[in-house]
Amino acid sequence: MGADARYARQVRYPAIGEHGQARLLAASVAIVGVGALGCVTANHLTRAGIGKLTLIDRDIVDRSNLQRQMLYDESDADAGMPKAIAAANRLKAINGDIEIYPHVADLSSFNAEMLLAGADLVIDGSDNFGVRYLINEYSVKLGVPWIYGGAVGASGMTLTVIPGSTPCLCCLFPEPPPGGTLDTCETAGVLSPIIDTIASVQAMEAIKLLIGQPEALHGSLMQIDLWQHQWHSLSVDGARKPNCPVCGLRRFDALDGDAPLEAMTASLCGRNTVQVTPSRQLTLDLGTLQNRLVKAGRSELNPYSLRLHLPDGISFLLFADGRALVMGTDEPMIARRVYADLMGE
Ligand SMILES: [Zn+2]
Repeated sequence: MGADARYARQVRYPAIGEHGQARLLAASVAIVGVGALGCVTANHLTRAGIGKLTLIDRDIVDRSNLQRQMLYDESDADAGMPKAIAAANRLKAINGDIEIYPHVADLSSFNAEMLLAGADLVIDGSDNFGVRYLINEYSVKLGVPWIYGGAVGASGMTLTVIPGSTPCLCCLFPEPPPGGTLDTCETAGVLSPIIDTIASVQAMEAIKLLIGQPEALHGSLMQIDLWQHQWHSLSVDGARKPNCPVCGLRRFDALDGDAPLEAMTASLCGRNTVQVTPSRQLTLDLGTLQNRLVKAGRSELNPYSLRLHLPDGISFLLFADGRALVMGTDEPMIARRVYADLMGE
C-alpha cells in the first residue's frame, strides 16, 4: 500500500495536507512509559505516520493492565513480555513503514540524554512525578518540547511545554506532590475512557507541534473529568516564572544528579511490585545467571528477562542491565534484601 492511500484521510484535513504529512514522516518522537496513556499516544502516532518512534518502558505486561492498556492482550501478560517490546511488535504490525525503537529501561539521570537523543518531542506516558521532572529538565536543557499527561479515577490533566515559550512543569508545580497526598491509580483506580481522552489530547497536540502549527495548541493546563462532565482549560499565559529553578535559572538537579551510592528502589503503582535499580549499569548474561541461581527456585528465561519464582510467593524478574522487578511485595526493604541475596549487591 502506498503512503498516499494510508494517510489519505489525514492529508485531506486542510491543516495537515501533503506538507504536514511529510513533516510527520520526518519526525522523531519519544514516548516515556507505554502504559495506559503511552499505548494510546503510540497507537495514534504510529497510525498517523510519525517517522520514528522511541518507546521507553521499565515494566512487563500484567493481567491487571489489560483493562486499559490497549496495545496488549492476554498472551503478552502470560508471557511476561516487556511492555516496550510488546508495544513495538503490535505497532509494527499496524504500520510497517515507520521505525520503532523499543527500550526496556527505566528513564533516569543515567540514560535520559542517551535514550531521548534526537527526539523532536517527548510524550509523557509515565506514572510518577520523578520521571516527569526529569523529562521537564531534559526538555528545557535541550530545547525539546514535551507533553505532560496524567489520569486517575475518571479525571486527568495535560500540559504542553514548549521551552522558551510556555511555562515549564516546574513553573506550575515547583515541588512534586508529597507522597500520600495524591490520589494514584492504586488508591483511586482508573477508568479506561479518561485515559483515551487525555492521551488523545496529547496526540493531537503532538501532531500540531510536529507540523509546525504552535498557534493551534490549547495553551492551557487542561483538566477533564468524564464522570462529572467537567472540561476546564486553565490558561497558563503569564505563568512562566523568571525565578523557576529549571527554565528561569537553568538548574537541572534531577538530570545532572550524582550517581546513587546504593541500589535504588521504586514501588510500581498498583502492582505489588518494587523495582530495584543497581548502583551502576550492568551487562548481564542472563543464561549464565540462570545456571548460577538454579537452587534459588524455578526459573524462566526469555530474550528479555530471567524470572525466578522464590518461596513466599515472591518472584524476581531480572533484566540484562541489572534492573529487577521484585513482584509480590510493596516493601522496598524486602525487595532490596531479595536483590542483595541473589545478586550479591
Ligand atoms: Zn519553569
